[in-house]
Amino acid sequence: MKAYKAYCFDLDGTVYKGTEPIPSAVAFIHALQKKGIEPFYITNNARMTQKQVQQKLLKMGICAPEAHILTSAIATAKYISNHYPNATVQMIGGDGLREALLAENITFTSEQPDVLVQGIDLELNYSKIENACYAIQNGADFIATNGDIKFPSEKGFAPGNGSIAELIHNVTGVEPTYIGKPHPHMLAILQQLNGFEKEDMLMIGDNYDTDILAGIGFGIDTLHVNTGVTPTESVLKKDIQPTYCINNLLDWQL
Ligand SMILES: [Mg+2]
Repeated sequence: MKAYKAYCFDLDGTVYKGTEPIPSAVAFIHALQKKGIEPFYITNNARMTQKQVQQKLLKMGICAPEAHILTSAIATAKYISNHYPNATVQMIGGDGLREALLAENITFTSEQPDVLVQGIDLELNYSKIENACYAIQNGADFIATNGDIKFPSEKGFAPGNGSIAELIHNVTGVEPTYIGKPHPHMLAILQQLNGFEKEDMLMIGDNYDTDILAGIGFGIDTLHVNTGVTPTESVLKKDIQPTYCINNLLDWQL
């Protein structure tokens, strides 16, 4: 099979399931590292900081440099920094997003922001949503880390960031710019930061509708693994196929 320079892994459902590592993925990552290739990790999760993702991977036996971990929060901060230089920002979100915005020296405000940025916030309340709606009606651009409607928890599906963003969209009539997968912004940022050619990049993921479509939309090769959200039989019915479709990463010859 073709060799790539940038192996871009989704995390949940691809490298691990919740707190459990997926052994075939861990073995594959170790094999890449043995060949001197350090993979990248691309997650829509905006709650965790790079360091928290790094520590989670370390517990599973994966050593990952912080700079190779891209969350939708970091991508959002870089997107704002690129597209809205010197803008003031009002934020709904957790530590991951706050830290990412601070790292880009973005100025926070609680009144008349240029940009309203929204990520998952476990302390969300009515007044935060209300104020976000007012900011957008007063002309702030609306940017959301990701549009995931729901995510699996032990008890069932929990509301994802996209559900809250849709609520604000319903009130204001303004659709957010979503940064996370399936939109190609995260892959574009990774390419920009590292100077890869598109033909040297491979997106690896379990979710056709986010990971694989992000890769296809960005114009790079994609690899679907049958270890998470989208079963292979559903992928095979899609109009646009991933470049490769395998059961798990043990089936990939490096
Ligand atoms: Mg996944």
